[in-house]
Amino acid sequence: MTHLMQGKRGLIMGVANDHSIAWGIAKTLAAHGAELAFTYQGEALAKRVRPLAESVGAHLVLPCDVEDIASVDKVFADIGKAWGKMDFLVHAIAFSDKSELNGRYADTTRGNFERTMLISCFAFTEAAKRAAALMPDGGSMLTLTYNGGDRAMPNYNVMGVAKAGLEASVRYLAVDFGEQNIRVNAISAGPIRTLAGAGIGDARFMFAFQQKHSPRRRGVSLDELGGAGLYLLSDLSGGVTGEIHFVDSGYNIIAMPQPDALRS
Ligand code: NAD
Repeated sequence: MTHLMQGKRGLIMGVANDHSIAWGIAKTLAAHGAELAFTYQGEALAKRVRPLAESVGAHLVLPCDVEDIASVDKVFADIGKAWGKMDFLVHAIAFSDKSELNGRYADTTRGNFERTMLISCFAFTEAAKRAAALMPDGGSMLTLTYNGGDRAMPNYNVMGVAKAGLEASVRYLAVDFGEQNIRVNAISAGPIRTLAGAGIGDARFMFAFQQKHSPRRRGVSLDELGGAGLYLLSDLSGGVTGEIHFVDSGYNIIAMPQPDALRS
């Protein structure tokens, strides 16, 4: 392992269990020397998140529901008190009513649209603003998106609209914070079997389809997402900001499946 993250401290938002993308990134950052703090959503998840956090030596493990702005404020106040400043932020949070991640986008309800956008899109802006205030020496921020924000994917629906907003937020935040030496990027991950991933209608079909038809003819692993996270959060990517970086075995570049893959 390297010392790429030695002396760097950061917050990981979005671990639910050891299948979470946020955990894949956290593990890699810790292995390369980072000191981590974690948030968890509600006491039910605390039981899973605390032991994971402890396994990478984290002491700050804080409750946070992004729908409750007071809990977001408290997280950054606690980090400010404990560390004084921070170097990086990982936001890997999304939610939408499962019943609307099925069928037509046109049937999205106003209530679920607002909630999906708040949790899966605007919460990143709110966290980024608070994290930037704790980054006097510069820093790096990372969020997670999916190709369903660029292109219409079956059943992804309102989550695709939220991801499009999230990706635009990455570009605007990169401009807002650029002069402070703070970089803002996103990883667009290929499908991974997680709690959130399983909530999308026909998830198994999408997973298998993308695996079969991506140029690499396979999916991606948590370790590969961790490696990309390490690159984007470390000084290795010092010249990169406002970028949507695909880690999807190349699926996003294809216009149509290879005929041999369709025949097999
Ligand atoms: P996950 O279920 O492990 O993580 C989702 C996290 O969001 C959970 O920790 C959950 O507690 C948190 N969350 C939801 N509502 C919240 C709220 N109100 N307040 C605080 N936290 C809340 O699933 P994941 O797949 O690791 O998802 C992480 C990110 O990766 C999401 O943004 C997701 O859209 C994105 N992503 C996932 C895939 C995939 O195939 N799994 C692909 C591309 C992008």
